[in-house]
Amino acid sequence: MYMKFSVIKPFDPWRSPMCTCPRKWVLNTYTGCGHRCLYCYASSYIPNHFTPRLKRMVVERAEYDLKHIPRGALIEMSTSSDPYTPPEAERQFTRKLIHRVLSRGMRLLITTKSDLVVRDIDILSKHLGRVAVAITITTINDGLARRLEPGAPSPTSRIEAIRLLRRAGIPVIVRVDPIIPYINDEYRALRDLIKRVADAGALQITSSTYKAKADSLVRMKRAFPELADKLDELYKVRGVRIHGYMYLEERLRYSYMRMVKEVAEEHGLIFESCREGFTNIGTPGFACDGSTFTFPEVYEELRRL
Ligand code: SF4
Repeated sequence: MYMKFSVIKPFDPWRSPMCTCPRKWVLNTYTGCGHRCLYCYASSYIPNHFTPRLKRMVVERAEYDLKHIPRGALIEMSTSSDPYTPPEAERQFTRKLIHRVLSRGMRLLITTKSDLVVRDIDILSKHLGRVAVAITITTINDGLARRLEPGAPSPTSRIEAIRLLRRAGIPVIVRVDPIIPYINDEYRALRDLIKRVADAGALQITSSTYKAKADSLVRMKRAFPELADKLDELYKVRGVRIHGYMYLEERLRYSYMRMVKEVAEEHGLIFESCREGFTNIGTPGFACDGSTFTFPEVYEELRRL
């Protein structure tokens, strides 16, 4: 029977042939996001994206949907907004939702760039074996992060969040995503970033290059006018269009992913890439989104190590 879900939807990255995510469901607490990342792609399809609004009756609608989703299914919060976008500090609706999702026996992957996630460790740690947190860090330079992600908490506070989550036994994936030419693509900077997150306890690195949309490229060029011509050359002249995005040429994307993979593996971390089409360079047996750690048997194995 066809079931119309209200607010928890099957994950569908616009049917992108590059996406290697496992089957999962997506729950966004908010429409729009206040982190205002220059490179955000959600702003290309969500009107007024940088003004986050709580979804109408989100808890009631999620409770309805949860009754129709099989126990043990994977739910990701969130993919087109950050579940800990600034209003969440006061409103606490993500907190209510993670409690509902986990109480119904689902597996939960939280994807965020906010240290506010540590507020909810008390709930997450009651469901160890079914939860994982992916924290995005594009640079450990707080000044550069303020230009790239002006509304998001600093990388320093995100690294501290990794430490606290791991201390509570919660698996953490770090998304080094996106890598943007001339901005955060320097080998030494990436090496320092990966070392810091490895020391803090991250288990997996998932990385991806910047895929430009028309609006995000305009924002990027406004914020870094000295790079405008170079970015145009890389994306508009030498780049390729894939599924509605401007991608860098394949050779360059591959060299970035190889670089991150090598550093991640030097630190004993799992490596995966996201929507690059390089299925051969990831660590075998692990999902690109980090959700492998939401399987209880994987978690048990991790505990035994
Ligand atoms: S955190 Fe994600 S959804 Fe929010 S503005 Fe940044 S890229 Fe967009």
